[in-house]
Amino acid sequence: MLGEGILKGLAETARNFAGSYVSKERLTTVQYPEERVAPIEATRDFPFLVYDGEDAFAGLRCVSCQICEKECPPKCIYIEKSKDKKPDYVGKPQNYPVRFDIDISVCMSCQICVEVCPFEAIKMDTVFELATDDRFGGLLLDREKLSKSNEYYHTIHPTEAMEVDARLAEEKAKVEAKAKAAAEAAAAKAAAAPAAKPEAPKPTGGAE
Ligand code: SF4
Ligand code: SF4
Repeated sequence: MLGEGILKGLAETARNFAGSYVSKERLTTVQYPEERVAPIEATRDFPFLVYDGEDAFAGLRCVSCQICEKECPPKCIYIEKSKDKKPDYVGKPQNYPVRFDIDISVCMSCQICVEVCPFEAIKMDTVFELATDDRFGGLLLDREKLSKSNEYYHTIHPTEAMEVDARLAEEKAKVEAKAKAAAEAAAAKAAAAPAAKPEAPKPTGGAE
């Protein structure tokens, strides 16, 4: 019948409208901000930087490779790479971002920065109440504001964070096994090398 779908849709809307007076499950809205709906695990809005441990600087995973900066479609990430290095999670010396800003007034929440990061250093947050009347300073988030702990990551995206932890632990174990094998090979080589010949005594000079 012509228009059957429209009539069905209207009937469903009317059923939900009338039903919402007697059944809370049919309520699709809440009285925000007094009432709030907790974000679901798949919620994504703006990126943040993950750090491990207690120290936001020492544990920052970002190595300032600038891939995210290059790949960000609206170019709203600004990174300045350090001249010195600090150890990463496997102890390898790496650069770090002296400056890492994201202009969230430009960010379109596409998550490309997260997908291209090879270091699991940038993830999507669920915080959305970021309105401010400070158009420039208030919406340009710097490294300090962007840095959040791995524990926080676990609270907002537990499944994903556990997978990331498992991946990083696996990579760390591989690096440590490789280093151990190299050290053992070096020790075995040193042990197998013939002992150095004692130096022959130097001839003494003629009669004085
Ligand atoms: S989410 Fe998209 S737009 Fe926002 S910083 Fe990442 S790459 Fe850029
Ligand atoms: S967040 Fe990831 S991709 Fe971006 S600079 Fe840091 S390590 Fe590189």
